[in-house]
Amino acid sequence: MKIAFFGAEGKVGRALVPVLEGAGHEVRGIELGDAPDVGGLDAAVDFTSPTAAPANARAVLEQGVSCIVGTTGWDPETLDELARERGLRLFVAPNFSVGAVLMMRFAEQAAQHFPRAEIIELHNEAKLDTPSGTATATARLIGGDPAIHSVRLPGLVAHQEVIFGAEGQLLTIRHDTTGRESFGEGVLLALEKLTTLPPGLTVGLDALL
Ligand code: NAP
Repeated sequence: MKIAFFGAEGKVGRALVPVLEGAGHEVRGIELGDAPDVGGLDAAVDFTSPTAAPANARAVLEQGVSCIVGTTGWDPETLDELARERGLRLFVAPNFSVGAVLMMRFAEQAAQHFPRAEIIELHNEAKLDTPSGTATATARLIGGDPAIHSVRLPGLVAHQEVIFGAEGQLLTIRHDTTGRESFGEGVLLALEKLTTLPPGLTVGLDALL
């Protein structure tokens, strides 16, 4: 496919563009200050910032192109109607790592047996939004409004622990992203399945697995 990648020079972009090209896609990098021109392309991918992503996704949809967004910290519901009207797909996932999606599924299962849980999410200090989209999505899945603790330090990539506690026992479910290329598997899957999704907004890699 011919793809635009918004944020190709960012930390995620630099890791993912070679993965996408290695899988046979043709990638046009779009950086801050470039015109968001996606004419003639099959899809766009955005890993930028919570302030840039809504305008980028809107510009992509207005040009008649479907969009995959990894940027968290904004409300994609605001673009659902536009995507539907145009018969396009807007796929947004708070986490494109298959391991992280499994961590969320296992946490959802564990929550059926443990009434109390807390979430610790740890990310690189450059991450702008707090708590992370993955932590918020996990909290929604396990229910009961669990506390979320956010850690931002250099040296971290993306990590999350869900700790379940009951009298006499603890259960910890943890996922560590040690390299950003791990998000490539999910983005490739989203590109492959994009046209099979209904028009409008779809949220979460779970919908594709
Ligand atoms: P980053 O290193 O700051 O990279 C963002 C890139 O986007 C930079 O090159 C930045 O350029 C560029 N940019 C900013 N505004 C833009 C615009 N309007 N148009 C095009 N490019 C623009 O951040 P990152 O670590 O790669 O993460 C990017 C986003 O993805 C964050 O929101 C992060 O939370 C999210 N993320 C999601 C997942 C997931 O699985 N869903 C995984 C990891 C990260 P400048 O440097 O010139 O500003």
